[in-house]
Amino acid sequence: MEAQKSVTFRSLSENVGQFSLRDKTFLIPEMNRIGAHTLAGVFRSFGVNALVMDTYKGLDLGKEFTSGKECFPCQVTTGDILFHLKREKERLGNGFRAEDYIFFMPDAEGPCRFGMYNKYQRIVLDSFPEFQKVKIGSLTSTNSYTLTGMLEQEQARDFRKAAYFSVVVADIIDRLLWRIRPYEKEEGSTDAFIERSMATMAGLFESYGAKKDFERILNKLEEITKEGKALIDPSIPPKPLIGIVGEIYLRTHTQSNQDIIRMLERHGAEVVNASIAEWVDYTTYDRVREAKIHLRLYIKQLRFDKVKDCVKRLMSHGGDMLYQHFRQDTAYKRVKPLIDLAGDHRVAHLDKVLKKHDLYSFELGTEACLSIAGIMEYMYQGYNGVVNVYPFTCMPSTITSSVMRPILNRKKVPYLDAPYDGTYQPGREAALRTFMYQAYQHCDRHGRKKH
Ligand code: SF4
Repeated sequence: MEAQKSVTFRSLSENVGQFSLRDKTFLIPEMNRIGAHTLAGVFRSFGVNALVMDTYKGLDLGKEFTSGKECFPCQVTTGDILFHLKREKERLGNGFRAEDYIFFMPDAEGPCRFGMYNKYQRIVLDSFPEFQKVKIGSLTSTNSYTLTGMLEQEQARDFRKAAYFSVVVADIIDRLLWRIRPYEKEEGSTDAFIERSMATMAGLFESYGAKKDFERILNKLEEITKEGKALIDPSIPPKPLIGIVGEIYLRTHTQSNQDIIRMLERHGAEVVNASIAEWVDYTTYDRVREAKIHLRLYIKQLRFDKVKDCVKRLMSHGGDMLYQHFRQDTAYKRVKPLIDLAGDHRVAHLDKVLKKHDLYSFELGTEACLSIAGIMEYMYQGYNGVVNVYPFTCMPSTITSSVMRPILNRKKVPYLDAPYDGTYQPGREAALRTFMYQAYQHCDRHGRKKH
């Protein structure tokens, strides 16, 4: 028994981490659909056989191999990997080799449970003798998701740049979807157009990501924006503007959130969801913040051996932050003159908002930093309502709700908590409809602000 236990624990450190992707199939779970496919394109451009797995088809498996106490995204992604591997095994029969696959599951440091998903999934995979050799490739927020060990060292930096750019481009295409669909001339035309655009962009990232030919990608993004704008019926008046915050997986994974954006649109909303780049920026910003704190401390303590290391970290993460801002600005500057599209905010600005109102602190970490400040931003910008989308029992989102609900009530801004756990709640649609009724009243009183 003891020996078995030690094997299990060894597996957590030996089979979860950063492994070379050379000659492996790298399995990417689909979180937000567009971003997963553009990121897979970037991996392929660096010679990695990356594949986006079908999602939500294995939810029964995910529920079978979890206890129900885990966060819902853990159940969904556990189901995704089990479903994919079982299907691969059926397809390949004796030719199936578990060691050929690496499952991508990043993590983050505490205090919430995201850092435990890949450990738990390791234990689940180890319970299937045929899947024990599937490794889990994990990037961590503690080093801003660097790929040391997974790609050749000389590729890692270029990869990071191309991957970040793919996240920004995917955010913009998502924003185009939410901007165009509520006003489309022909029902269904936006969905078809976005699906085509996603495939085009994934292909472009596959061809030009490693070459960092971003200009070509931006030119296409401009074309896509113009094409999308033509789908809008200009005679439809502006609709109440709703902002979404919450847990990154649930607010972007349409199956898990039962397509809440589409449902809000059905009841008359135009929606803007928080971006994915915001999370990447947050992890980089936090590394810079941490390095500054350490630097001040070591200078005070006169520990000059440590100061040098801190300055190095500060320059490296600070350089990443500047690069990310530059990339994001370049992309938004190309599309915003073409269409009135919601921009993205700086994480440093969100930090200031929290400090100014003394609502929460970056010291405490988690997505609550982004969601609380994000709601304040929506409020200042005159949004007509806010929805907080999250997995049932999600800690940072519950904090967000408890901090922001009283403030929004006082300010008379419609607010809705939307927790999900895979079940269908009979009152959900009525709640959304009531929320939209309030949003229309807010819009009548305060008007509808431009982006
Ligand atoms: S953010 Fe919420 S859903 Fe995600 S791991 Fe933390 S508690 Fe779970």
